[in-house]
Amino acid sequence: MTLTRVPVVGQQCHCRDNQDHFLARTFERLGLDDAQRQFLVHPFREVTMQIPLHVTAEEGEALCTFTAYRVQHNHARGPFKGGLRYHPEVNLEEMRALAQLMTWKTALANIPFGGAKGGIAVDPSELTLSELETLTKRFTQKLGILIGVHEDVPAPDVNTNPQVMAWIFEEYSKTHGYTPGIVTGKPLELGGAAGRLEATGYGAAFITMLVCESRSMALEGARVVIQGFGNVGSYTALRLAELGAKVIAVSDVYGGVTCDAGIDVQEAVTHVSDAGRLEGLAGTDALTNDELLALPCDILIPAALDGVINCDNEGSVRADIVVEAANMPVTHMADDALHDRGVLVVPDILANAGGVIVSYFEWAQNIQEFPWPRALALTRLEDCLRNAYERVAGGAARAGTSMRTAAYDQAVAAVLRAIELRGF
Ligand code: GLU
Repeated sequence: MTLTRVPVVGQQCHCRDNQDHFLARTFERLGLDDAQRQFLVHPFREVTMQIPLHVTAEEGEALCTFTAYRVQHNHARGPFKGGLRYHPEVNLEEMRALAQLMTWKTALANIPFGGAKGGIAVDPSELTLSELETLTKRFTQKLGILIGVHEDVPAPDVNTNPQVMAWIFEEYSKTHGYTPGIVTGKPLELGGAAGRLEATGYGAAFITMLVCESRSMALEGARVVIQGFGNVGSYTALRLAELGAKVIAVSDVYGGVTCDAGIDVQEAVTHVSDAGRLEGLAGTDALTNDELLALPCDILIPAALDGVINCDNEGSVRADIVVEAANMPVTHMADDALHDRGVLVVPDILANAGGVIVSYFEWAQNIQEFPWPRALALTRLEDCLRNAYERVAGGAARAGTSMRTAAYDQAVAAVLRAIELRGF
């Protein structure tokens, strides 16, 4: 298993500010009182854990302690659902904001889940595979009864993958019996769903296609720039290239590559799996991540971490459409500024919902012990995303708001309705 090295410097958590800002607007529009607001903002439950682990370093073996989190935001509409992220800058504030984002994402997609997020403050590329396995299994032990098929169902997120999910499944099954439905995003051999690995990227590309259709703009030949070439960025690029778009630049944590005639995305994937980075891809020129975000293009897709488009660099964005394949890649101030100058921003809770939607399919298949073919999963994914897109685009057009405002209004209203029906 390879886990991509992640940037350690220069990252800041913009998530909390963003959530507060987007929600405040929605709360006003829906006319919510103070108690309702408090209930919707604060998590149902949050846990912080310390995980000890002996780590082999150059100087010999050392005992390290890693801080881990699980924040369960809301489960009015179904079990808590959301990824586990392994990144040195994981912290409680970020987990709270991302857990809440999952609540709105699952509500908007109309799948029967709530929202959660968790992770460990660790740089996984500094651990051996067996250290990572031990850390993951100890994390699972500490999560204990907080997770469950009908309680809380984790999934992959930044720097976690099907192998990490397999370890969680194994550890949980030791005490609960064979339970594939405890996590989604598993390897196919262990009850993973065909289509789950590529689902987030596939969904982001599908939403991009719907946006182009609505604007009577051809996706074929459209110039696309993608920041991030991990699971989400690479599958978004592959699918968009398949649909005829011209991917003119992509980047990873080390920097980007560009080719005005269009990058051969499949070749880029092969190059990354051989060289470990995009740098040096034949037929391309190198550029920095900052230069990449400022390239003139039709569609810009941030597909890595949060806050990459912010008030410092928003003015240099020269795309007509920004599709948020990552969670919260555009800060709220940049979002307002882009909206004011007519750039369409397709919000994360719609653009990257493909992952959690196919997670839902995987969970349903595990419970029924009846796998679906990939084609069926992808058709159902498209139906689900088209439905959400039409509701959001229609709502935004009717109310004259941004797509984000319309998406938040609908998601929050759905969660509130479930809470009211169940009773406080
Ligand atoms: N981590 C993904 C997200 O942020 C997927 C979550 C899931 O499948 O539960 O949407």
